[in-house]
Amino acid sequence: KATVEEGDKFDDELATESLEESNAKSALEKLQEDRKTLPIYPYRDELLKAINDHQVIIIVGETGSGKTTQIPQYLHEAGYTKHGKVGCTQPRRVAAMSVAARVSQEMGVKLGHEVCGICYYSQNSGSVAFPANVPCPKGLGVGGVITLKEPCTAIFQLHLETSEVEKFQPLVGYSIRFEDCTSNKTVLKYMTDGMLLREFLGEPDLAGYSVVMVDEAHERTLSTDILFGLVKASRFFQLYSYNSFNIFMDDIARFRPDLKLLISSATLDAEKFSDYFDSAPIFKIPGRRFPVEIHYTKAPEADYLDAAVVTVLQIHVTQPPGDILIFLTGQEEIETAEEIMRQRTRGLGTKIAELIICPIYANLPTELQAKIFEPTPEGARKVVLATNIAETSLTIDGIKYVIDPGFCKMNSYNPRTGMESLLVTPISKASAMQRAGRSGRTGPGKCFRLYTAYNYLHDLEDNTIPEIQRTNLANVVLTLKSLGIHDLINFDFMDPPPSEALLKALELLFALSALNKLGELTKVGRRMAEFPLDPMLSKMIVASDKYKCSDEIISIAAMLSVGNSIFYRPKDKQVHADNARMNFHTGNVGDHIALLKVYNSWKETNYSTQWCYENYIQVRSMKRARDVRDQLEGLLERVEIELSSSPNDLDAIKKSITSGFFPHSARLQKNGSYKTVKHSQTVHIHPSSGLSQVTELKPDWLVEIAPHYYQMKDVEDRMLSFSLSLCVYLRACVRVLLKGLNIIAVQACN
Ligand code: ADP
Ligand code: MG
Repeated sequence: KATVEEGDKFDDELATESLEESNAKSALEKLQEDRKTLPIYPYRDELLKAINDHQVIIIVGETGSGKTTQIPQYLHEAGYTKHGKVGCTQPRRVAAMSVAARVSQEMGVKLGHEVCGICYYSQNSGSVAFPANVPCPKGLGVGGVITLKEPCTAIFQLHLETSEVEKFQPLVGYSIRFEDCTSNKTVLKYMTDGMLLREFLGEPDLAGYSVVMVDEAHERTLSTDILFGLVKASRFFQLYSYNSFNIFMDDIARFRPDLKLLISSATLDAEKFSDYFDSAPIFKIPGRRFPVEIHYTKAPEADYLDAAVVTVLQIHVTQPPGDILIFLTGQEEIETAEEIMRQRTRGLGTKIAELIICPIYANLPTELQAKIFEPTPEGARKVVLATNIAETSLTIDGIKYVIDPGFCKMNSYNPRTGMESLLVTPISKASAMQRAGRSGRTGPGKCFRLYTAYNYLHDLEDNTIPEIQRTNLANVVLTLKSLGIHDLINFDFMDPPPSEALLKALELLFALSALNKLGELTKVGRRMAEFPLDPMLSKMIVASDKYKCSDEIISIAAMLSVGNSIFYRPKDKQVHADNARMNFHTGNVGDHIALLKVYNSWKETNYSTQWCYENYIQVRSMKRARDVRDQLEGLLERVEIELSSSPNDLDAIKKSITSGFFPHSARLQKNGSYKTVKHSQTVHIHPSSGLSQVTELKPDWLVEIAPHYYQMKDVEDRMLSFSLSLCVYLRACVRVLLKGLNIIAVQACN
């Protein structure tokens, strides 16, 4: 009897396996069929011929035509990947990850994360820890740890059957800051434009690439614009200015006639790109576009979030089937909208059809990001709540209705004060057109603009100002300087940044001792450039060497780079969450040290998930911080900074922080507002931002640490009465320790 049973089981297994296999096969066949229906497909051969004939091509095609997912595959099929990788840049990390996942699916290969999620490798312990959703194969439970034979920082693949952990070698990979899912087997590499920019540092002739596709060029992000200048320089010109001690110069000027450069964009004004690249040919992919009916509000909306929710419900009950896409400005707004929508639909019960709410923003966990692409079940309707990412980077099929409140979050920088802030800003007409277009991809669509036709015509700019003209350039200047590009005024920018901003960046780098008086990179600057962080953060790390607390400082830097998603504050348990958070602030240590305490306490519990739950801390963010920290530790080694620890010397830690952030110091006023020490800039307090990190400092530290920047008189006169009220802060935001844990953002006020 036993044999029969075993036999049966065996047969069953065989049957399931082959069923699964054939399902996978037909799914792949279906995907191949789908590829052929994309607007770009009929132009495949023509496009490949054009790429073959020209070194630089501008490709224009409407969003969804298949540029991002198909062109790299065509190049692979045509053999370009035999001599090097095809790199494709995206302005956003979510887009790079999501597109890589899609393309690996279409090619029938696995992408790291689908197999195992990220496993966290620690160089200290030589072990790999598994994320919460992957049970540790050795039976150590969720979040277990396996020791590896040799150190390795790649993505790992977990073989569930054998419990073996193997370095994963993705064929289609992606690379975003602090997360590299590629290997030497990777042939199609999707990456953020910022990552390609960093690769220039190590490989200025892009030797590993046969084709570079700068995608979404119309977005004109800072990194994209700089990449333009660099690829143009490295391929067409000898660079005219030399930095005598730069070792890369010979490489960057090396002529690479074999490197193909594709600039792809979703907008039709490609002439500008063509002009810039010496009249490169423009290849147009005719799109299919259905008419889109545009509706405006009769009067301006006082509360666009509420108006958006009302519009969703109206569409849902009055309009024929079709999914809805709403453009909001960020995670917080998306979460609020989601909550209001759930509340309002709950009351309606079964009176209305099912409404599936799908948020998408940069910090959303990868598993949930995939949800927006799942087909909507019959009878239901999907509402996608998206940031600008859905404007051109991601295409979601089935959208028939677009709701456009007319805003996005934009970086804005005041070169005079050096203050940078993320502001909710009206979009441009070009953006409004793109957004509306998202509803007419597969059939006629409707776009509901939550502003008036008069607003549209008279208040919106025609085009979004390129980021390079409205941002802090310190990071970019440091990168260019370390590439040996000395003469920034004559650098061939497509649209040059305001000279005031360039000057400000040079000033800041000089203040941080990254540049000397001649504007040349110093040893400190060279070290700083190795870190993929803002110069102030890199300086803080480099300075920690002197104060013998690099161990603590990289933990703080890692926690800061995770953003404001460490603390979890559910609406119904805010008091508990705030109390838990207060525990890390005992002794008024300041936010940076509090973050360090959080990290170290978590580490002490052996990275316990339970501990995170109990303390209202997001496990996911902590794991990311750990990952970032491991990488920073690796970089310390590269710049020859020893890992040193002074856990009890809070002054040493604060002095390191001050070494990076002294230009951001402010003094508390009697009325509760702040004034920056350097420019006496009054700053306003805004009660709802979570971006700020503040640490108190002793006034004389400023003079001790930055004697070239602050004089005694800057701090002296108020030293006695205000000795405890000076602080350094991250970005243009300040938090005060006065009223509980209110998070207070500060904006420059002129
Ligand atoms: P373009 O770059 O021209 O805007 P894409 O190559 O991004 O176009 O998209 C082509 C098609 O691939 C779209 O119709 C979209 O539906 C599909 N697609 C892209 N990414 C994904 C994804 N992550 N999941 C499912 N479908 C996707
Ligand atoms: Mg695209």
